[in-house]
Formats: sequence, C-alpha cells, structure tokens
Amino acid sequence: MSHLKDELKKLSRDLRAWLKDQDENLIYTSAVPSDNAPANIDSVEDLMAETEKNEAMAAAEHLFFQAAAEKKFEPQKKISLESLREQVIACRDCPLGISRLNPVFGIGSPKAKLMFVGEGPGFQEDHQGEPFVGRSGQLLDKIMEKVLSLRRSDVYIANIVKCHPMKNPETPEAHSNDRPPAPDEIEKCRHYLEEQIRIIQPVCIVPLGSVAAKFLLKTNKGISFLRGHVYDYESDIPGLRHTIKVIPTYHPAALLRNQNLKRDTWHDILLVKDLLDSASQ
Ligand code: SF4
Repeated sequence: MSHLKDELKKLSRDLRAWLKDQDENLIYTSAVPSDNAPANIDSVEDLMAETEKNEAMAAAEHLFFQAAAEKKFEPQKKISLESLREQVIACRDCPLGISRLNPVFGIGSPKAKLMFVGEGPGFQEDHQGEPFVGRSGQLLDKIMEKVLSLRRSDVYIANIVKCHPMKNPETPEAHSNDRPPAPDEIEKCRHYLEEQIRIIQPVCIVPLGSVAAKFLLKTNKGISFLRGHVYDYESDIPGLRHTIKVIPTYHPAALLRNQNLKRDTWHDILLVKDLLDSASQ
C-alpha cells in the first residue's frame, strides 16, 4: 500500500497548491452560503481541509479499485496456515466458539495434494483439538493407508466449522451430544476453510458425508446421490491456480454404523487414487 500513500501525499500537495492559487474570497463566499456546506466550515483553512479529505478519499477509492482491477494486489491479503490458526483460536464469531473446549483447525501437510473435509468436530475432536480422531479417524487413516498408501501427514484434514456443534452446549463433557452445524454457523465459519483451500491448493478434495458434500458442491442432494462421481470445485475463492476436483464419499462414522457402505467407499477412494496418479504423471 506504500505506493497508494505516496499517491495520496502527492495529490494532497497538489490540491493545497492549487487552492492557494485561487481567489480566497471567491472560495469563501461561494462555500459558506451553501446549504450543503458542512456546519463546521468557517474558514478557508477548514474548507481546504474538508476538500482535501474528500478528494483524498475519492482518490484512494479510485486507486484501490484500479489496482484491484489490474490485479496488482488481492483485496484479501495472503496469509499462512499458522496465522489462520491463530485467528481460529481467537474466533468467537458464532456461538460454537463459546461452548467449544478446543478449536479444531485442521491437520496435515500444507502442500497436500489431497484434502479431506468433514462437517465439524465431534466429542473426541473437541477434547483433543484435532480433526477425525477416535474410531472414525482410525478408519479414515486405515482407508488412506490401504488404498492410497498415504499417511495423515501426507494429506490435509479439516472441517467446515472449526468448533464443536453440540445439541446441548452446556454439557460439552456429555457423549451423544453432537449435531450437524447449522447454516448460519457454516456461513460464519466458511471463510476459514476457503482460506485453507486457497493456501493448500490441493488436486482433490474429498468431502466426507452429506453436509460437507452439499456445502462443497453447492447442492441439496444427499451423499448417496452425489458419491461415485468426480466434480469440478466451483468456487469464487480468489487465486486458485487450477481446477480442484471434488470426489465425495461417505463419512467414516457412517461406515462404522453400516458395513454395506464399504464397497461404495472403496470405489470412491479408487477414483481418488486414479486422479492423484494421473496428476503426478
Ligand atoms: S465455529 Fe468458526 S466462526 Fe464459529 S467460533 Fe468457531 S471458528 Fe469462529
């Protein structure tokens, strides 16, 4: 922004010089009687200061939009995963931030080609501050290792919301207290996930379960309809260098409840493997 400040200083100097060259009486008499003149303008100096401020603001606006249009700078500053994590730790933008035990930012490699996205932290995650731990997490680790030959540290795992959505927020120590995030909670938190995607720029995102799949694919269709296919990630996240693919599959917790979903999940993860293999050739 230093060039912007220099431009404004120069503009301010030019404007001051121009005003001094003008007939002060003319400025004074034309400005003071006006109904639109600000109430506190009662001298040429005040008028100059006010004019200077308005002109400077207009110039700043103009320069900002010109630079943005020319993509000299992104309106949103690029930040690292670490500083984003700090923001999440401090965040209380929705009620989930008040009742959570720990924020659950995300884990894995910032250079991951594969990203898993769930809906939100549950009981175990809230206690440990890490996504997909407990039995669901162990199953996800097993699927990654067996089919993709990848470990947790090779991929990136995150959730749409970073704090535990609870049925009863007053009892975070209670089991069976998990619920899906509400639409307004998702809306408040989505920019953290989108920033994670922008920083990591994976080849492929695998939404785990209906909530994550609907969110990433902007649809109301359920996971059993959406799974089994490869989609383009259509987002307005600025600065993405390539089209990210989305391959939705079942949430590991659903697999633990229903063994019949294993075959379809296996098929989906093989789609992921084919995609990663062809991307690395
Ligand atoms: S869920 Fe997201 S928006 Fe809400 S408090 Fe946690 S980090 Fe902030």
